[in-house]
Amino acid sequence: MNIRIGYGIDVHRLEKGIPLFLGGIQIESELGAVGHSDADVLLHAICDSLLGAANLRDIGYHFSDTDPQFKGIDSKILLKRVMELVSEKGYSVVNIDSTVIMERPKLNPHIPAMQKVIADILGVDLDAVSIKASTHEKVDSFGESRAVKAYAACLLSA
Ligand code: MG
Repeated sequence: MNIRIGYGIDVHRLEKGIPLFLGGIQIESELGAVGHSDADVLLHAICDSLLGAANLRDIGYHFSDTDPQFKGIDSKILLKRVMELVSEKGYSVVNIDSTVIMERPKLNPHIPAMQKVIADILGVDLDAVSIKASTHEKVDSFGESRAVKAYAACLLSA
């Protein structure tokens, strides 16, 4: 069996008065992530992990952050397109493991909904999508709620 590991990291700034999209859902929060797209840091990290595992460059290579067609785009569309590219190379997803670093709000209540959205797009069981939530212990930009970060690792098989 041909198996391939991949990982991805993404960071977005947080600002007041804009919506927060994370893991494909909107979460009630006084701070939202700033970006050219909907700034879904978790989906972007997962996209990069999948692209990396399939050796297909990175999310910015496929979806330029200066291209008007991606302005405000729903990152679920980007993840779906990434999965199509990965499938075209003959790979399917074995599992995803991810961590979101965010001081507040608490993400744990939202994780099942995120897992469902991601599993549906990737065509895998819920059990294949792990999402962990962590704070940054009030330290640095992440701990001071100035930014949000996500890490993702994935395994593909062909
Ligand atoms: Mg991003």
